[in-house]
Amino acid sequence: MGFRFDSLLPIARGLSVTLREFFRRPVTIRYPEQKRPLSDIYRGAVGMRRRPDGRPKCVGCGLCETACPNECITITTESNPAQPTEKVVTSYTLDVGRCLFCSLCVEACPVEALEMTNAYNFSTNDRSTLIYDVDRLMDLVDKQGKEAATLE
Ligand code: SF4
Ligand code: SF4
Repeated sequence: MGFRFDSLLPIARGLSVTLREFFRRPVTIRYPEQKRPLSDIYRGAVGMRRRPDGRPKCVGCGLCETACPNECITITTESNPAQPTEKVVTSYTLDVGRCLFCSLCVEACPVEALEMTNAYNFSTNDRSTLIYDVDRLMDLVDKQGKEAATLE
């Protein structure tokens, strides 16, 4: 049985694919130095908005804590002696490591204090660093559009 040239055809076809892809622009990106642009409707971590004077917008009603299906949010408040109808938020924490990004807390907030930011990249060896206090939550909102897509 002699050599059959048509047996080289599959090899030639395979090599042609390799050659064609060699000259194409790579589809891979060098993450984390390069990042893909995010969709406008991308939903990342929850952030806290500020009032004009820089304080958190939260009024301590506790609705987000109740609405959260995964018990990520913990709020403590005390009454304001000067304004008995107002509460003072003494602590507000959100565990980003437990968050489902469902946005129910954002929907529940009556004063629009919360928003879904585009922050992602939560890799860590220490889950306790994913418990965000109110200052870190406000930082997430401050960073919107500046440093899209990274958590420190
Ligand atoms: S986005 Fe959902 S899971 Fe995350 S804190 Fe809000 S309610 Fe909880
Ligand atoms: S629902 Fe809004 S105002 Fe009420 S505790 Fe949560 S963040 Fe604060």
